[in-house]
Amino acid sequence: MADRDALRAKYRAERDKRLRADGNEQYIEPAGRFAHLLEDPYVEVVEREPLCDEVTAAIIGGGFAGLTTGARLQQAGITDVRIIEGGGDVGGAWYWNRYPGAMCDTAAMIYLPLLEETGHMPSHKYVPSTEIFAHAKRIASHFGLADQALFSTSVTSIEWHEESARWVIHTTRGDAIRARFVAMGTGPLHRPKLPGIPGIESFGGHAFHTSRWDYGYTGGDPAGAPLAELADKRVGIIGTGATAVQCIPHLARDAGELFVFQRTPSSIDVRNNHPIDPEWFATLEPGWQQRWLTNFCVLQTGGFADEDLVHDGWTDISQRIRDRIVAAMSEPGATFGPELAQLAYEDSDDQKMTEIRARIDAIVADPDTADDLKPWYRQLCKRPCFHDEYLQAFNEPTVHLVDTDGKGVERIDETGVWVGGRHFDLDCLIFASGFEVGTSYARRAGFETTGRGGQTLSQRWAECMQTMHGVHVHGFPNLFIIGPNQGANLISNITSNLADAGKTIASVIAHTMDVEADEVEVTLDAEQDWMRTLEGAGSTFLNNPDCTPGYYNNEGKAVGARERLSAVGYPPGPVAFFEFIDGWRTSGEFTGLEFRKAAT
Ligand code: NDP
Repeated sequence: MADRDALRAKYRAERDKRLRADGNEQYIEPAGRFAHLLEDPYVEVVEREPLCDEVTAAIIGGGFAGLTTGARLQQAGITDVRIIEGGGDVGGAWYWNRYPGAMCDTAAMIYLPLLEETGHMPSHKYVPSTEIFAHAKRIASHFGLADQALFSTSVTSIEWHEESARWVIHTTRGDAIRARFVAMGTGPLHRPKLPGIPGIESFGGHAFHTSRWDYGYTGGDPAGAPLAELADKRVGIIGTGATAVQCIPHLARDAGELFVFQRTPSSIDVRNNHPIDPEWFATLEPGWQQRWLTNFCVLQTGGFADEDLVHDGWTDISQRIRDRIVAAMSEPGATFGPELAQLAYEDSDDQKMTEIRARIDAIVADPDTADDLKPWYRQLCKRPCFHDEYLQAFNEPTVHLVDTDGKGVERIDETGVWVGGRHFDLDCLIFASGFEVGTSYARRAGFETTGRGGQTLSQRWAECMQTMHGVHVHGFPNLFIIGPNQGANLISNITSNLADAGKTIASVIAHTMDVEADEVEVTLDAEQDWMRTLEGAGSTFLNNPDCTPGYYNNEGKAVGARERLSAVGYPPGPVAFFEFIDGWRTSGEFTGLEFRKAAT
């Protein structure tokens, strides 16, 4: 117990070092010297005439949210579907994130949607960004979504027109597209943010954000070819989150010198990637992907199953908790309750984090560097990372960890970066500083949505996101949100939330058309009932102020009782949500929705 108290005290002290009054405001949107970071370096934009036509369904965003919803609409027989996408192709986060080493930490067998429908076998247990991007394109072509899509086209506003019962979508290309239905797949990981470090604008060297990797400057390519142009450069990288962990081994291999500016170390668990065996893959029975999805979801959220199909770092901690509970319950007179569950969780987490810290000592040769790389928080307080070459990179003589003791980079000037009163001369500065996740919906999406009676989504959600099932918003007829929040909220496999929401949206749209209604809208009562249901959601890491700050917990700033609801899921958990929503959409009743003719 004394050890545990000491560990908790250490966790609190490390968190306190990082707490700052400005929370999310510490980050800035790329502007001025960095305005180009919102542009697309990957395609030549081709001029075209503005469109003023009408479609049955418009989908904002061509990432996996938009693609899976588009696919489900096609499956439901609704083929007049137009994806509108700011990037030059589909892919969303996987279009933008082409940095060297990019791959997904969730196993491809469950992360890549619609594998059975498209007939694709993942090459490895965890696949690189190039394969994920290719799969996004495969879904688009398989379901005929690419032909009608508008790329390099960013939405500037969406308005509901009462008289015609249509949404009108304005874009950066001068379009005014009418749509009977709109689905919002705007995602959280595509708008880069920068740290508001004093002097950032003054940096005179080359600078870019990881989601706009400048291969023209570095050499190399997304497949991992050497970043040959960096051989004589002094490169700095700010950030040590999931992105930095993946690209640092490549920079360490190729840069003349690399300076890694660290504020909070990530927890780095083993990766253990391996190729998928085609013979084994061929033995999988039809329906396998849904079975894998359910199995992962059950095991990752503390349930029981006969086997662990995915078997990785996401399910490992739950497995340990379960084993402890089973062992405790086999003692005579044992009773299950919240105390036992909490103890099993704390024991498992402490054991896991001790192993993660021990792994650093085993891999990193210099003891001071090893100490600086150790994470002092619970594993799920920040995004857990998995990598087999990241820690090893710090053994390279050209790689320097510059730990800022939780304070962050002090200042940037024309020639480099200041930390702790020391200046680091740099030719190139890479921002691995993440994305707009915790900011307002309109800032994240990049446009405003105006619903019935002129009310904007920002006004409607001023206090917190308000939906039924995470999908339907009162005052916004024929509009659907695609995302994990207020629904399953299965953070460890985002695409499973999206693909399932797509099924719901397709069935609601198909029903609206079947009953020849013009409008479908959630009633205020049904929406607020759902909001009251969400109040039962316990404290999660996503809103836990005890955790070290980051976008998982609103940068450590306490959130109000209502605001907290923006980031929660269905209280009984993701498995229960998927079961509940499947029953809701297949019952044919669509309880809570109102189907009606237009007002005029
Ligand atoms: P993050 O927001 O996770 O990380 C930003 C990094 O920048 C943090 O290390 C942060 O430190 C650091 N930082 C911010 N300001 C400063 C400062 N002033 N001085 C020094 N450091 C600073 O962004 P990522 O792009 O790494 O990841 C975003 C999300 O994208 C991930 O959480 C994950 O969900 C997803 N992703 C998934 C991948 C996968 O599947 N493998 C790969 C990449 C991304 P601090 O921690 O102290 O805030």
